[in-house]
Amino acid sequence: MPGPEAAASRTFTVALDGPAAAGKGTIGRALAARLGLAYLDTGLLYRAVGARTAAGEDPFAAARTLSPEDLRRPDLRSAEAGQAASAVAALPEVRAALLDFQRSFARRPGGAVLDGRDIGTVVCPEAEVKLFVTASDAVRARRRWQELRAASPDLAEAEVLADLRARDARDSARAAAPLRPAEDAQVLDTSELSIEEAVARAAAAVAAALR
Ligand code: C5P
Repeated sequence: MPGPEAAASRTFTVALDGPAAAGKGTIGRALAARLGLAYLDTGLLYRAVGARTAAGEDPFAAARTLSPEDLRRPDLRSAEAGQAASAVAALPEVRAALLDFQRSFARRPGGAVLDGRDIGTVVCPEAEVKLFVTASDAVRARRRWQELRAASPDLAEAEVLADLRARDARDSARAAAPLRPAEDAQVLDTSELSIEEAVARAAAAVAAALR
């Protein structure tokens, strides 16, 4: 049986892909905490590049020089930041500039959970667990609206739904690393699941892969 040192140096990747607001982040954070794995929200990288681009920078230069401080900007969770992220995410040079960091994170000793759109297809096709997390449009819009309305009380749920649909359409239609399930991904539809149930299903997929 491998001792604790072997466990600390093993590589083990959980790839969580799927459309916006399907529950990837919630599941990813909970799974990482439960299993003692590192967690990376790769959408935040694109959101930070989008924010710097919206402030007038060249997107490729922003992607090449992204810093940890960029990821701590308070405005990255807004719908505008999501749209700005989706626009720069369609640029192959931007994606290429962010790839090495994501790949080394995915294979870091001790194991990692990454959520995004292309983790199982491009960033880490060798991931031991690949889940395509999805939910109905209406459920995703309701969840995202509930998250955003504290900061934006006038925001309409229909507006959030339209925003998610526009972003998913652009993410799926782009030529560079489009949003799609990897051939060997398991689909996890969270429409009818509580957070606990969704995390339990993801944990069961990890346990099965470790057996
Ligand atoms: O996951 P999140 O909604 O924060 O991602 C914001 C945007 O970043 C997505 O709509 C998508 O365009 C882009 N993205 C991507 N590839 C990833 C993660 C995010 O293209 N791995």
